[in-house]
Formats: sequence, C-alpha cells, structure tokens
Amino acid sequence: MQPLGAPVEGPAATAAVTAEGAVNVEGATNAEGAANVEGAANVEAATALVEAIRRELPGVRLLTDELDREAYRLDEAAYLSADLPAAVALPTTTAEVSGLLRLASEHRVPVVPRGAGTGLSGAAAGIAGALTIALTGMDRILEVDRANLCVVVQPGVINASLKAAVAAVGLFYPPDPASYETCSIGGNLGTNAGGLCCVKYGQTRDWVLGLEVVLADGRVIRTGGRNVKDTAGYSLTHLFVGSQGTLGIITEATLRLRPQPGPRSTLLAFFASVEAAGEAVAAMTAAGIEPVTLELMDHPTILAVDDWHHLGLDRDAAAMLMVESDAPGSAATDELDRAEQACAGAGATALVRAADAAEADWLREARRQALRALERQGTVRMEDVGVPRAAVPQLLRAIERITAAHGVRAATFGHVGDGNLHPNFIFDRDDASAAALTERVRDEIFREALALGGTVTAEHGIGVARRAWLPIQRGQDAVAVMRSIKAALDPLGILNPGRML
Ligand SMILES: Cc1cc2nc3c(=O)[nH]c(=O)nc-3n(C[C@H](O)[C@H](O)[C@H](O)COP(=O)(O)OP(=O)(O)OC[C@H]3O[C@@H](n4cnc5c(N)ncnc54)[C@H](O)[C@@H]3O)c2cc1C
Repeated sequence: MQPLGAPVEGPAATAAVTAEGAVNVEGATNAEGAANVEGAANVEAATALVEAIRRELPGVRLLTDELDREAYRLDEAAYLSADLPAAVALPTTTAEVSGLLRLASEHRVPVVPRGAGTGLSGAAAGIAGALTIALTGMDRILEVDRANLCVVVQPGVINASLKAAVAAVGLFYPPDPASYETCSIGGNLGTNAGGLCCVKYGQTRDWVLGLEVVLADGRVIRTGGRNVKDTAGYSLTHLFVGSQGTLGIITEATLRLRPQPGPRSTLLAFFASVEAAGEAVAAMTAAGIEPVTLELMDHPTILAVDDWHHLGLDRDAAAMLMVESDAPGSAATDELDRAEQACAGAGATALVRAADAAEADWLREARRQALRALERQGTVRMEDVGVPRAAVPQLLRAIERITAAHGVRAATFGHVGDGNLHPNFIFDRDDASAAALTERVRDEIFREALALGGTVTAEHGIGVARRAWLPIQRGQDAVAVMRSIKAALDPLGILNPGRML
C-alpha cells in the first residue's frame, strides 16, 4: 500500500472524449477513494480552451502557473490524492461564468466549480486536464430585502460575513457549518451544508428561495425568486442545492432570513459512556425538546479540545453533550431545565450551565474547532454518517466497537441532535497501512449506519470519497434517475465529472 496522497493503483481512471463528443470519466475513484482522473486526452483541449478564454474573455483572471494551480488541487479531504487542474478561472460576473462554460462545452473540457475549498468529500478537488472555476471573486451581498425577509447574494460570500451583515440589521441567516468563517455560500449550496443549528433551523436547502444558475452550455436560468410559496413546475431550486457542482454553477442566490433570536444559554452534560449520551439525545427527541444546538464530543475529542483551549472540561468523561437554547426570555431556562432532566435520567455524571452568553459563545467556538484540535495529533479522515435520531445510541456503540476491533485511533463528535456523527480516524500520514485500514473501518461503519436506516453522508456529500456507496444506499434505479437528470442538464458530462455519480 502506498502512502496516502501518493498516486495509487486502482480501477482504470480516464477522462476522454467519446465519439459523440461527451466527456467520459470512468473509474475516477481509486482504492483510496481519490479523484484520479487522467486527462491526457484532454491536455490539447485544455490548452486550446485557455487560448480561447484569453482571446474571448480577456477580463477573466486565469491562473496557469503551476504554483498558483497547486492551491486548487485539494479540498479539505486532504487524505485523498487529487490532480492539478489545467487552469483556474476566477470570474467576477455571471456573464463571465456563462462565457467560460460556453467555451468549456465547445472545447469539451471538464469543469470543477469551486467555492472556498473547505469541502470534505473531494468534490472541489482538481481534475487533470480540467478547468477549475473558483467563485471566490463573486463575493458581494447584492441586497438585504427587509420587507421580504430575504437577502440576495453572490456565491463567493463567506457564510460568517453574510451572518454578520444581516445581524447588523437585526436579522438572522441560520445555516452555520462549523467552518462558517471560511466556507462560501456557493459551497454551502453545492453541498446543502448543515452545521450546529440544523436541529432547530434545518439545512441550507431550507433557507433558499431562488437561484441564478449557469448551465453547462452557458445558458443562464433563474429558479424561484422572493416568493415564500411557489409551486410553478418542478422545484429546480432544490435540485441544484446539494448537487455538488454536477448540474450547473450557482451565480446568485436569494436566501430566507428571520428575525435575530436572543442570546444563547448553554448546558454541558457529561456521561460515563457514549451510549448514555446517546440515550439522553433519544430522550430529548422523544420529549419534543428542540434546542438550537445539540452536539456530542466523545472522550478523545474532549481531551483534544481541552488540551488546546483549556476549558476545564471533565477530562474523565466518556462523552459530553452541548445543549443550547435561543428561546426568548425564561423559555430558554425552561428548555434547558427539560434537557437537564433528560440528561440526568440517562445517567449524566455532571451538568454545568454556561455563566453567560459570552461563555456560551466561547464553548461553541471550541466545539467548532474540534476537527482542528484533532488535526494537531495527525492526519484526520473525517466521516459523516447519519441515522434516524432514535438510533443514535446503536450507532455510537457500533462506532466504538468497530474502531476498537481494528485498533484504529478514533475520535467522534457531531451534530447528534440530527442523528449526524463524524467518526474521525487519526493516523500518521506516512503510515503505509492507514489508507486500507481506515477504508475498511469506514466501510463497516457505513454498513452499520445503513442497517439502522441511516445515510453514508448527512451533510458533506458523496463527492469522490463516498461514490461507491451511492448505489448501495439509494439503489440502482434511483441512481439511474439521477443519471438521467445529469444527462438532461449536462449532456456532454463536463460538470464535475466523476463526482457523486
Ligand atoms: C473545520 C471544518 C468544519 C466543517 N464543518 C462543517 C459542518 O459543520 N457542516 C457541514 O455541512 N460542512 C462542514 N464542513 C465542510 C465544508 O465547510 C462545507 O461542505 C462547505 O459547505 C463547503 O463550502 P466551500 O465554499 O468550501 O465549498 P467547496 O469545498 O469549494 O465546494 C463544495 C462543493 O460545492 C460545489 N460548489 C462550490 N461553489 C459552487 C457554485 N457556485 N455552484 C455550484 N456548485 C458549487 C463544488 O463543486 C463542490 O462540489 C467543515 C469543513 C471544515 C474544514
């Protein structure tokens, strides 16, 4: 087994142009799940495309220098290996994106849409011989529409910037992936990002009213608008959200807002076993308690976060739940009282309330940094399984059993209130056995999650990392329907080939 990150032997991977002129990417996932699309056949096409862009779209910033392109090779699934894109375009207008896709179609060159590159499925990583289109330069908030409680944004806006801008006028955009200070709205739409408050406010998809999308051939369409209710035709808006750049490039989004809720109150509950924490979650769900945040950290995660941030967490605990309420006034205290009862009933060993909103913010920030805290210990492969919420205790037990049986260093945290857990495998990057071992462990956890009625990805997406599992989870017929949709929207197959499907 070769080291992670090195090119590996795997199923044949080719990006070639078929007789019909379509880009044909086969076997793009190798044994490590890495994007490994050899675009030798496309090198000439890519060179011709770069010349055409320079000639026809002289205003578009184009990166062709190898060092510049290197920054666009990987996303945050850094345990995967990926290729260098042939070129990177940084458009600033919808017209430029349209021109780029028209030319890419004409030259049959694959395109990788990219936001901030924080994705955890390899879906924004480079493809050899392909053009990466990074939307980071389209980063304007175009309008905050108070009267309609919505905001119109370009895709490159950073999630935290949008939150701050609308908070300044008393409004709230809820979706908050833990990466919110670095990830873009376009990427959030591309992945249907979740985060720490989905348990109450839902995922990105629930906050989208309309989109402007550039199709593979360069045509620009609008889906939805500012109507809260709109049943005209198929819901194309929701089709594009979560499509991981395989159906079109989103160049504008109209997003719902709501009034800013009050400051948060926080309860920390510590447990002697992860299962007991899982039982507390199941009890809260059954009792209809709807906190804004319900997060879990297991023992190794508690230690990693506490080592870094010195929060004084209970370092002997096997698991910790963070429960937050943003209910108004005394309702927050009532909500946390009920959560506390559920935790006590499940055998919590300690229950602590944050002293004030500042301490609550501080604790939440530490939880957001859980992945970074683990990365201080080695290379981390992060997974993203989900199960119906009542099955959380079984999933936690299965993760513990499987990782222990294989002797893998593991740490689990996640949005447990949604039934969404992130088992992380930590290893030395030079460990030659790590790739195969973590793959085996992951596959066993995936099987358990599916047996519990769950999913192999709750918020990070299939990308390249989990591609083999899509037909296993959804079934061949459902995947065939997805392929038909893909073929209808992108008949040449130039948009993010080999990702998801
Ligand atoms: C520390 C850390 C914590 C994280 N926490 C969370 C979390 O809590 N919840 C969560 O859901 N994710 C989380 N993530 C994953 C990641 O931040 C999200 O998936 C995020 O939505 C990706 O945004 P991005 O701008 O980085 O997109 P990228 O990684 O650049 O792209 C993601 C996908 O969207 C597509 N895409 C990007 N822009 C467009 C566009 N304009 N039109 C069409 N498709 C597009 C890309 O092709 C790709 O398929 C975390 C990541 C890190 C590193």
